[in-house]
Amino acid sequence: MEGILYILIGMFGLVIGSFLNVLILRIPAKEDFVKERSHCMSCGYQLAWYDMVPVLSYLIYRGRCRNCGAKISIQYPLVEACNAGLYLLIFYVNGLSILSSIYCLVTSALLVIAVIDFRTFEIPLGLTIFIALMGLVCSVMDYKHIALYVFGMCSVGLVLEIIFILTGGSVIGGGDATLMMAAGLVLGWQKIVLAFFLACILGAIIHSLRMKFTGADKMLALGPYLAVGIYICMVYGNQLIQWYLHISGLDYIL
Ligand SMILES: [Zn+2]
Repeated sequence: MEGILYILIGMFGLVIGSFLNVLILRIPAKEDFVKERSHCMSCGYQLAWYDMVPVLSYLIYRGRCRNCGAKISIQYPLVEACNAGLYLLIFYVNGLSILSSIYCLVTSALLVIAVIDFRTFEIPLGLTIFIALMGLVCSVMDYKHIALYVFGMCSVGLVLEIIFILTGGSVIGGGDATLMMAAGLVLGWQKIVLAFFLACILGAIIHSLRMKFTGADKMLALGPYLAVGIYICMVYGNQLIQWYLHISGLDYIL
């Protein structure tokens, strides 16, 4: 029974992933992502449903448009598979719950943010607002600890916001600060601090490797790293904090 449920979650993740590809393409181009039909980017051929089966269509047509043979970006099946995999890990670790479902929605928004920020150095405000709304649901569901979430919103995010204003955006982007405020409402203050810490470490390591080996620019988009940090903390935040308290001996004092 549980196996079937996981298969359904995986399939649902793929379908949502397919929609995320549309968002990734159309939000930066400011196109309508609901009404307009999907089409090939090079010949304009309108895609039928069987051209849009997540991952499978890409594999069957070997990553080419069925009409003109133009190469289709590997990004499409990757985003779909990633979204499904990330959903499955959330449910596997956190169990089948409403909170897990909310984390999945936040994850999808983070995935879109990561790809768009990586490409355009901008974090669409609409997606951040969506995450903030999910955070509101999280804090209401856990209303006995609501202060934890309010502190979450006001800790990392607010500090970054102040740095953004004081430095005129030369150190950190305004989109990054707002994203951390929204995610703080989802995670609470302990986990959002941890998420930021993880994002900085990952960003420093991966970006210096990219600069060394692929000649990437010094300027880095922080969004993808923040997204990874937030995701890790949604899934493993409690375990990581417990582990840290244990190795530091703080769990005996607290
Ligand atoms: Zn085509």
